[in-house]
Amino acid sequence: MLRIGYHVSGSGGYVAMGRETTEVGGNTFAFFTRNPRGGQAKPIDRDDVNAFIGYAAEHDINNIVAHSAYTLNPCSADEKLRVFARNTMADDLVRMEYTPGNYYNFHPGSHTGQGIDVGIAQIADLLNAVIRPDQHTTVLLETMSGKGSEVGSRFEEIRRIIDMVGCDDHVGVCLDTCHIWDAGYDVVGDFDSVMTEFDKVIGLNRLKAIHLNDSMNDRASHKDRHAKIGEGRIGYDALARIVNHAALHGLPFILETPNDTDGYRKEIEMMRAAYRN
Ligand code: FE
Ligand code: FE
Ligand code: ZN
Repeated sequence: MLRIGYHVSGSGGYVAMGRETTEVGGNTFAFFTRNPRGGQAKPIDRDDVNAFIGYAAEHDINNIVAHSAYTLNPCSADEKLRVFARNTMADDLVRMEYTPGNYYNFHPGSHTGQGIDVGIAQIADLLNAVIRPDQHTTVLLETMSGKGSEVGSRFEEIRRIIDMVGCDDHVGVCLDTCHIWDAGYDVVGDFDSVMTEFDKVIGLNRLKAIHLNDSMNDRASHKDRHAKIGEGRIGYDALARIVNHAALHGLPFILETPNDTDGYRKEIEMMRAAYRN
């Protein structure tokens, strides 16, 4: 069974997120651990979490992919912003322990003119500060489109970050199809080679989750604007090949397409129809 879901609203707690997911035919989901702009997180409600763990088991929901606030910048030139990113992520990882065995995805960040080498070192510093050897969450670096001074649009950059992290058994990668297309990888014409390159540079064992998005822009545009499935430059056929690709078998696929609930239900149906296994 294809493991697929979308980025739920998350405002009503864990059980509400589970319900949102089953209502559209999903069996995994993504959510922001706090306000996307990085404010204070609501305290964890243990009863809600416990009820959710039961609900998830009943409805075969797993491999959930939490997303850090997208405004955090682990490699800002401003030290205050780097410290803020570090403290926020450390707190998020404590919260993630209430739902052990899942994923915490983050954007590596933008080096804001410091250069790629400094950016990579600062991202690794943050990971070394927040990852604990006994944690039960895998932290995922998201592949980026290379907009502005974004780090992580080349597989080599992700590899260099992982190489500098001590507890690297708690580190993986979330591949965003819109982002790697916008970064220049040929998702449409030769996804096989993209996966071969990922394996060679990073290692397929690191690949833990997929953000399944179409793109409004051409390959290598470095724009990062998501489109609905089949309505962008990647297209339905290429995305259908991706959910069926042997290298991605069993991974959670998260839709981050511009949709309302009905739109997500439709896209989950479309991808399930495309899935041949
Ligand atoms: Fe993201
Ligand atoms: Fe994404
Ligand atoms: Zn994006």
